[in-house]
Amino acid sequence: MHAATAPNLSSDGNPASPGLKPPTPADLASRQQAVVSALHKLLPPQSVLWQAEAVTPFECDGLSAYRQRPLAVALPETHEQVGQVLAACHALGVPVVARGGGTGLSGGALPDAGGVTLSLARLNRIRHIDPLARTAVVECGVRNLAISEAAAAHGLYYAPDPSSQIACTIGGNVAENAGGVHCLKYGLTVHNVLRVRGFTVEGEPLELGSEAPDAAGLDLLSAFIGSEGLLGVVTEVTVRLLPRPQVARCVLASFDDVGRAGDAVAAIIAAGLIPAGLEMMDQPMTRAVEDFVHAGYDLDAAAILLVESDGTPQEVEEEIERLTAVVQAAGATRIELSQDEAQRLRFWSGRKNAFPATGRISPDYLCMDASIPRKALATMLAAISRMEGEFGLRCCNVFHAGDGNMHPLILFDANDPDELHRAEAFGNAILRQAVALGGSITGEHGVGVEKLDAMCVQFTDAERAQMLAFKAAFDPDGRLNPGKAIPMLARCGEVRSGPAQAMGQTPALREALATLPRF
Ligand SMILES: Cc1cc2nc3c(=O)[nH]c(=O)nc-3n(C[C@H](O)[C@H](O)[C@H](O)COP(=O)(O)OP(=O)(O)OC[C@H]3O[C@@H](n4cnc5c(N)ncnc54)[C@H](O)[C@@H]3O)c2cc1C
Repeated sequence: MHAATAPNLSSDGNPASPGLKPPTPADLASRQQAVVSALHKLLPPQSVLWQAEAVTPFECDGLSAYRQRPLAVALPETHEQVGQVLAACHALGVPVVARGGGTGLSGGALPDAGGVTLSLARLNRIRHIDPLARTAVVECGVRNLAISEAAAAHGLYYAPDPSSQIACTIGGNVAENAGGVHCLKYGLTVHNVLRVRGFTVEGEPLELGSEAPDAAGLDLLSAFIGSEGLLGVVTEVTVRLLPRPQVARCVLASFDDVGRAGDAVAAIIAAGLIPAGLEMMDQPMTRAVEDFVHAGYDLDAAAILLVESDGTPQEVEEEIERLTAVVQAAGATRIELSQDEAQRLRFWSGRKNAFPATGRISPDYLCMDASIPRKALATMLAAISRMEGEFGLRCCNVFHAGDGNMHPLILFDANDPDELHRAEAFGNAILRQAVALGGSITGEHGVGVEKLDAMCVQFTDAERAQMLAFKAAFDPDGRLNPGKAIPMLARCGEVRSGPAQAMGQTPALREALATLPRF
């Protein structure tokens, strides 16, 4: 569904192993033999895959237009086996790409043509739940939702809730610093993880953070969370659990103008309210979703807001009263309050099914992920609407409005190369616009391979050099998830000297970008 041009892995400016020549097919064949034989000494036969048909299911993540088969896939079942596989790959000088549920949307788990994909899906045990400390210790391959399911017996749950929570793993969540609809109030992954254990690229044990509320020294745990598998491999995660709120209710507010809905979001936060969820959808998105799950949305609205309040019955009653007053003053044309749990879940089912609903109305869509200051929501939406005309493509908007994290879904047909090209240019224009508005090229999906060029727009050479130096402190030879997240400096030189249109520069954007510092 999510298409983009497949990368040329050997010549994209991010070579797999900096300083080394790209391997020839003969090199790869002999390397594969050596790797498979080393892995067979460490793992049972069914845990080592290398034949084309066996490794093909691992050739992409949720960004499925980028595909690459690895030399081999290792499926360890224990913490120790992960360390041994890493040590063996290190000894052979072979790149390693960690993989959780494979639901990533930026190509982060895309295999390396000359490397091993380390699938961590079999490390899926919940080790310990401590209801007094309100923590859980889980293996990295445990699915996000499975943590809350296991904690439910104690009246607890794990708060970050990506829409992919049924399939994505906590290891992948740590690598991407995943968010979700309830992260406005309860924080992203980084705010809900106390400690990670795992291994360095050499296969040495690694432990960051502690069960204490704050750890001494530099906060490497926070730097590690969101590092897209570039610094180490996580095998175990200690997460905070929260008590399930006694009550939750959801306000569904309609607006006849997208800009007014965007301004209502800023007004809610300005009023000192931090709802448990604050999401927005524009009309094309609402209509696609309503057709699919019948959530009860207002099809005449130019945009809708979903605003959730949770807590004790009294807290919720008071907050709903204030929320309703703010959205009314902001110009809501219709306000509906969930009357029971079934209706609340129905309201949310629309939001949670926005991506599959888009898949029903377009052969392909490109899911962008950018974040902007909340006050710029209306400006950004107006810019996207102008871009629809400039690029000749439709776009549905759904987003974590409270966090300013937007997910414009650009509709196109990948069978038409021109549409694909325009979709990519449209996506890049959105990212550039986000930077021009003081935002960021990613909110929660990471950079992966998808946004390497956009990194050249957001960061200076000096900033990228510092990121590369930080990576090198953990992984001096660049063998962990090579070619992802941080573009090499040479690549950014090419991006800057390339045709402006390729990065989606429209006249309006050029004007906005003229105000930015030059790189
Ligand atoms: C329908 C849909 C909805 C989504 N909604 C959201 C959303 O609401 N919020 C959100 O944040 N994301 C969302 N995503 C994106 C995705 O689910 C998240 O990025 C998720 O955190 C990826 O987890 P994963 O286990 O699938 O990781 P993978 O896709 O397997 O890997 C992602 C990255 O993590 C690295 N990695 C994986 N496991 C480890 C490990 N144990 N140690 C070190 N590195 C590791 C990989 O190398 C890769 O770089 C959505 C995706 C889909 C398909």
